[in-house]
Amino acid sequence: MVLVLDSTPSPATSPDAAPALPTLAGRGSEGLRAALADVGVPEKQLRMRVEQLWSWLYVRGITSFDQMTDVSKDLRGRLSAKYSLARPEIVSEQVSSDGTRKWLIRLPKRGHETAAPEIETVYIPESDRGTLCISSQVGCTLNCSFCHTGTQKLVRNLEAEEIVAQILIARDRIGDWPGAEAPDDGGMLPLAERKITNIVLMGMGEPLYNFENVRAAIEVAADGDGLAFSKRRITLSTSGVVPEIPRWGLEAGTMLAISLHAVTDKLRDELVPINKKYPIAELLEACRNYPGLSNARRITFEYVMLKGVNDSLADARALVRLLAGIPAKINLIPFNPWPGTRYECSEWEQIEKFADVVNRAGYASPVRTPRGRDILAACGQLKSESQKLRASQRSPNGGAQTDASDEGSDA
Ligand code: SAH
Ligand code: SF4
Repeated sequence: MVLVLDSTPSPATSPDAAPALPTLAGRGSEGLRAALADVGVPEKQLRMRVEQLWSWLYVRGITSFDQMTDVSKDLRGRLSAKYSLARPEIVSEQVSSDGTRKWLIRLPKRGHETAAPEIETVYIPESDRGTLCISSQVGCTLNCSFCHTGTQKLVRNLEAEEIVAQILIARDRIGDWPGAEAPDDGGMLPLAERKITNIVLMGMGEPLYNFENVRAAIEVAADGDGLAFSKRRITLSTSGVVPEIPRWGLEAGTMLAISLHAVTDKLRDELVPINKKYPIAELLEACRNYPGLSNARRITFEYVMLKGVNDSLADARALVRLLAGIPAKINLIPFNPWPGTRYECSEWEQIEKFADVVNRAGYASPVRTPRGRDILAACGQLKSESQKLRASQRSPNGGAQTDASDEGSDA
């Protein structure tokens, strides 16, 4: 079953509508404080009011100021005259037969932008947990040769609020707020009390190229009095922006995933061109020094399986040799083909043989199970594929897909 919900333009995006009020949804405490001061809350009360708002926004998930029952009608009125709690517009929502959900989200257009940018967010439920894969940029400035996102023209950093808003939207849509009802479309949700237990920064973009905004968003997501995601259940995936890795470890301290994909510099230069700047030895040195590593807190190494390119058993043996001494997990990702790509996914048999070598070296269950196959909810296909689909209505048989739900699992 695939449900596709295409929205009509919201008042915020239709051409002759009044400009939308700025939203507080997704803001950090400084942003909330500024808004409260702006509507006349006295300095002395600001801290208490920020705490109230924080809890309504991030514990209860309210979407209207009227729901704030412990705030006076007068203050609610002053807030709603100048601000909203709106989330960015959901352009479409697709639900896979396996319960995977994908949202195409339209962000408000900025002054210089000719079109409203769009991003994707994917939710992958399992029986005991749910993983949300969020985007950090519109498009990506890097050009990994096997990744569709890297071919997109429109690129900009997401604001911290826009990163947090992806979590709010997902929790709204799957009824993951206290007392909220689950959607009635038959999608499968985990039995856990919270439907989103893990967050992975594996959607569109290179998160370490948007360091400040991603860090600010993670601080909101990890705040124990709000959304309360444990940092051990948040994983940042990077193509290898080496100088930012120690800083991320110290300042944000989430789990880390590295898009390795090759065991020699020659091949990695081609697949992940940032390797020319920061070669494998430097990348692995940064990994070895990542703060807080232990057998219970390992770095995930992602390895996309490309037929005849990086999938030989000699590559598998070199991979385990390369990672010796680093507390590591290895995720083998079946390649998701996209129109015009020169790569193919490795044969399943070859992936299994490769996985055997990796398994024998002590790394468990390394192949990511395909998820969201029917809705193209895959790494490397995000956004551009949706645009194409909206233009020409989708066919039900999408390509092979992967998910990212193995991450951050050892909390
Ligand atoms: N820019 C970051 C995070 C986003 S990409 C990074 O590169 O790590 C998330 C993961 O999807 C990365 O491991 C990336 O290499 C992988 N990926 C990209 N395109 C893919 C494709 N077509 N098939 C399979 N995995 C892909
Ligand atoms: Fe960017 Fe990651 Fe795609 Fe490379 S794999 S182009 S870094 S999104």
